[in-house]
Amino acid sequence: MLTPVGNGYRVWIFHNGEESIKKGTEMAALQGFSSRVAGFNGDRTMKDRPTKESNITRLFGSNVFSDRAMKERLPKDTYRALRETIDKGAPLTLEVANVVANAMKDWAIEKGATHYTHWFQPLTGKTAEKHDSFISPTVDGGIVMEFSGKQLIQGEPDASSFPSGGLRATFEARGYTAWDCTSPAFLKEDAAGNVTLTIPTAFCSYTGEALDKKTPLLRSIEALSKQAIRVLRALGNTVSMRVTPTMGPEQEYFLIDKTYYDRRVDLITTGRTLFGAPAPKGQELEDQYFGAIKDRISAFMKDLDTELWKMGVSAKTKHNEVAPAQYEMAPVFSTINIAADHNQLVMETMQKVALRHDLVCLLHEKPFAGVNGSGKHNNWSMTTDDGSNLLDPGKTPHENEQFLLFLSALIVTVDRHADKLRAGAANTGNDLRLGANEAPPAIISIFMGEELTDILNDLAKSRKASGKGQHYLHIGADTLPQLPKDNTDRNRTSPFAFTGNKFEFRMVASSASISGPNIVLNTIVAEALDEIATRLEKAKDVNKEAAAIVRDAVNQHGRVIYNGNNYTEAWVKEAKKRGLPNISSTVEALKTMATPEAEKLFSKYKVLSKEELHSRFEVYLEKYAKDINIEAQAAIYMVKRLYVPAVIRFVDELAETCGRPKSLGTTQKSLLSKAQRLLDSATKRLEELETVLEKAQGVHEALKRAETYRDKVVPAMAVLRGDIDALETITPSELWPVPSYADMLFKL
Ligand code: ADP
Ligand code: MG
Repeated sequence: MLTPVGNGYRVWIFHNGEESIKKGTEMAALQGFSSRVAGFNGDRTMKDRPTKESNITRLFGSNVFSDRAMKERLPKDTYRALRETIDKGAPLTLEVANVVANAMKDWAIEKGATHYTHWFQPLTGKTAEKHDSFISPTVDGGIVMEFSGKQLIQGEPDASSFPSGGLRATFEARGYTAWDCTSPAFLKEDAAGNVTLTIPTAFCSYTGEALDKKTPLLRSIEALSKQAIRVLRALGNTVSMRVTPTMGPEQEYFLIDKTYYDRRVDLITTGRTLFGAPAPKGQELEDQYFGAIKDRISAFMKDLDTELWKMGVSAKTKHNEVAPAQYEMAPVFSTINIAADHNQLVMETMQKVALRHDLVCLLHEKPFAGVNGSGKHNNWSMTTDDGSNLLDPGKTPHENEQFLLFLSALIVTVDRHADKLRAGAANTGNDLRLGANEAPPAIISIFMGEELTDILNDLAKSRKASGKGQHYLHIGADTLPQLPKDNTDRNRTSPFAFTGNKFEFRMVASSASISGPNIVLNTIVAEALDEIATRLEKAKDVNKEAAAIVRDAVNQHGRVIYNGNNYTEAWVKEAKKRGLPNISSTVEALKTMATPEAEKLFSKYKVLSKEELHSRFEVYLEKYAKDINIEAQAAIYMVKRLYVPAVIRFVDELAETCGRPKSLGTTQKSLLSKAQRLLDSATKRLEELETVLEKAQGVHEALKRAETYRDKVVPAMAVLRGDIDALETITPSELWPVPSYADMLFKL
């Protein structure tokens, strides 16, 4: 028997010894056109060319069981059948799966693989893998290397140790992994020489409930495609069959020397510094951004590129970021499912490769106070299977009208569901970043650029649009100029910026999976497109209705457009006047996902059932409380065992000096009294932290517990930090027990 994952989506698991698969793992067609979209896999760059770059072209994708590898190794019929499944979601038979599995195994073994793994993405936001070797004992005491279609299609890891937010209690503890044939299998290599055939999979319960981040992402792609195609059909497009979101996630990160990292309990256990007085220099000279890359960092980046290229990740751009010791890597965009898988690989590989260089890669959103934190810029658009970008203003009037409709969908939905988008970007680390003076604020607005805003405003008032282009379009009663394509005016402070042919959502957390925010984005856009399609389908005059849709979008939701500086106090006030939500914490943000409205939205588009949505709410709330609990415990550990003993040593030394008859200097005395005062204050605040922590740990109800951590424990940690950081500034550096900000940020 085959069970769909959730309410009839494209991932299927098959149950208990079932021998034939009627429907197969048919998560497909989602990336059917991907070979036409840049950055999908290495096939085009794999061509042998007798040029200098042939080493790289050969290297790129060499560890991917790519379309080219499949074409070379599979019998024609099998290849064609698999392609049908990948491109169009056609059923996959066990016979085909067996042949594919065998070819995959042979390919992997030739390249040194001994094991395979079903690679999945549980709600921890990280990836999970359990390795099985290909060996199978024979009667004569030997072994053969085996890998069957069934092993390719489905795995059964023990789900009981992954967060499931109550789904486990309601349903089965068992979890299943189901092959996602739309994201190519690849080889992972480690420094010890292990090579593992890694198969991207979805992870769900026995009854098909999603336990992971991939399944709802795939469902949201499906939802968006369906509604976008309806809009295109209503506009007379009969060619496009699918629409897929495209994604280019820019990844920011820090690198610090491992020697320093090893001496910071806070970095090791929480990913960020819980203490640390500012270094004499921060980022005020603006000399780091795009600065010359140091040799040591460059060596790391070279290795990183090589490792990523081998796995088919199209690492493209690398540069120094704004904060000292901060960097960025951006890949060429790809279809969103692959981009999400690849971004997980990017984060994992960054951390692995850094260690080879005696560096540690910090992916936390705010590893250091006082300098910029890290985010992930989520560049998002939609592309049809015949290769047209729906957010590209285009050159012809026809494209122009279509573009404005899709743009309207974003205006409507970002305004309507700003709270949910904010929730998609919420995590413990991002609470320290959003709304601080560098990252986008917690208020969501859209940057449209002046010219486009003028055009939209003209359309809203049914005025003749007065853009600068020359091509005019008749839509309904209005005239439209050619739309500006290049937004040279690049507002870096906007959380949701239109950048010429895509939107850049800048709130996304640097350490998180990009699936979360994109599940929200795809779903809310699907809803807006659904409404637009319904209006167009009912309209007698489609052009007139299209104009009305754009007009209504701007009139009813134009408040979300803001082209000014998002970092100012004035904007916070203005946004409040406009009624835009300003959600400052993860706990508040998550609450917006636990409303009947959210339940209706996500279940209507079959992305997350009510139970699945609620399970996520619980898991993320619990994660928040646990994160803060770990931070508080680490803070207490450091103060008790490192800082207090060090300061006592210093105070003792000073007291001894002051006690000597000949040394009555006022400097020593005032230093002694300052150190003693801060030490006493820190001790008191430490006790207060211990008290509130105990209180928080005793709260049973999940929401109340998370709120207690936020309202009591977080502030208690902050004031304790104040004393310790002040002590750091007066204690001799050789007595200070941990590396300073100056060491970590500047000594590389
Ligand atoms: P910047 O830092 O100037 O914003 P980057 O070049 O670092 O720009 O990153 C831009 C990202 O946007 C890249 O990953 C790029 O591939 C991606 N991108 C470009 N076009 C699209 C598109 N149509 N859909 C999604 N992502 C895109
Ligand atoms: Mg960039």
